[in-house]
Amino acid sequence: MKILIADDDKYLNKLLQMRLSNWGYNVIAVNNGREAMNILLEEDGPKLAILDWMMPEMDGINVCKEIRSKAGENYIYIILLTARDQMSDFLEGMEAGADDFMTKPFKDQELRARLRAGLRILDLQDDLVTARDAIQYQANHDPLTGRWTRAAIFEILEKEICRSVREDSVISVMMIDLDHFKDVNDQFGHLAGDEVLRETVKRLQNSLRPYDSIGRYGGEEFLVVLPGCKEKDATHLAERMRDAISKEPILLGENEITITCSIGISMWQSGRPVLSMDIIEKADKALYKAKNAGRNKVEICENYPVE
Ligand SMILES: [Mg+2]
Repeated sequence: MKILIADDDKYLNKLLQMRLSNWGYNVIAVNNGREAMNILLEEDGPKLAILDWMMPEMDGINVCKEIRSKAGENYIYIILLTARDQMSDFLEGMEAGADDFMTKPFKDQELRARLRAGLRILDLQDDLVTARDAIQYQANHDPLTGRWTRAAIFEILEKEICRSVREDSVISVMMIDLDHFKDVNDQFGHLAGDEVLRETVKRLQNSLRPYDSIGRYGGEEFLVVLPGCKEKDATHLAERMRDAISKEPILLGENEITITCSIGISMWQSGRPVLSMDIIEKADKALYKAKNAGRNKVEICENYPVE
């Protein structure tokens, strides 16, 4: 565990370094406030700091304030260690954002106990962030395929529309539907159907560019958002995806299943805002055209660009 010590008293600075090293901490020591702040704000900087109040360039109070306003969710636990011992000093220190306040000269055992208390808080903070990230991931990702949920892909499309208005660029959207998917479920069971969905999504994803997004729209329907992708490129990409799905059969135990998909594409050339549902509806219509034309096909919406 890295701990930052900032104190311009050379003797005390050295003493703190020795104590903390003996207790097994990895110590970074500086003697002015500005340097302390810069190190604490580094990406992989220490999460725990012992700051003196009076220091050159920037005092401990201002370091606290800056850290609290800039460090974001990367929580840094701050102990102010100072010769100032009035109640008003304590209040000012805590108000500035310190988590703990100690007066000099410090007692070894007390400092050690307070460091442990700080570590407990940091551990709790870590657990909370991890739990929150996991919940967020689960909320945004379809559990079966690992791709975006319907709500999440809609949100992505909305954001991309805003961006395309700003940058005066193009968006293409694909609606992809696996052909006769119900037959897979009926013939081989729902677990086999799940496996087919996972495998086809993997193949679709591998065909996409890194900045494209794919979400599960419904049972065996997927929505793909392609920022900056023009008609020719979108068609080319869709053909590649169609090919990726059908070229190799999917292995299910001893069975081999060949799956095909139909793809409808719509595009929108920027200029003025458009409703995401309009773009999706056009893609959906193109998809039905592909279905009616015999499936395993790519179709583009008729009125390009969407108006
Ligand atoms: Mg000082």
